[in-house]
Amino acid sequence: MSPWWIENVDVLIPTAFAMEQEVEGSCITSHFPILMYHHIREYDDFSDIAAKNLSVSPEEFHEQLNYLAKNGYHSITTKDITKNTVPCKSVMITFDDGYYDVYKNAFPLMNEVKYKGVIGLILWKIDESDYLFWPDIVELHKANWEIASHTWNHLILTQLWPTILNHQIRDSKKDLEKWFHIPIQTFVYPGGFYWPNAIKTVAQSGYRYALSTHFWEANLLDYRLKLNRINILPGTTVEKFSNLLQEAEKNFKK
Ligand SMILES: [Zn+2]
Repeated sequence: MSPWWIENVDVLIPTAFAMEQEVEGSCITSHFPILMYHHIREYDDFSDIAAKNLSVSPEEFHEQLNYLAKNGYHSITTKDITKNTVPCKSVMITFDDGYYDVYKNAFPLMNEVKYKGVIGLILWKIDESDYLFWPDIVELHKANWEIASHTWNHLILTQLWPTILNHQIRDSKKDLEKWFHIPIQTFVYPGGFYWPNAIKTVAQSGYRYALSTHFWEANLLDYRLKLNRINILPGTTVEKFSNLLQEAEKNFKK
């Protein structure tokens, strides 16, 4: 049954399939980790803790990708979810805010292991210094990365007027679709905050998926407009990284 706050909204009913099952000889799953990154950049000389905490160094990121590739993880975007073909042992790699260093530092490393990412754009930041330029976004899209909306202005979506919510959530989707000629099906809540009205607007705007910042694996059998993610902080060694993945999976299975 739908929660009270999404009553009368055309909500996606999760497809009923078991947590893991065989389909035509391949194993598909309904749960997987979604990793959350912001900047992929060096942060050693940062005194600003907030800026540092949004950063993972290219070396750390490289090691994390190698760990995933060596351990047989498949990289997915929400397209795989829509087709109901999420392979067992999948990972979704997401980058919030649309920073240029993702294109400069993360994209080549992702290509090395043939992984694709999901990038959540703040529309008014496109083409600003430190952020992605138009051609970078087009190139990421051509490399099968998913483009997601992370609102027009990165407002925290708590108690906002409906017109503002609509602009941030619905208009940002429409504008990205118009600019890039692609369907946008994923929304990323700024700061991970979702107020009931925000979720309702996300549903009414036609998004199929939305990403929160709750720790744990994403669970497709649950409501898909607040999928869990794992925040990767600076200083995450491969050992810590592997523990995080295991912990997220364990909590999911409880
Ligand atoms: Zn953000």
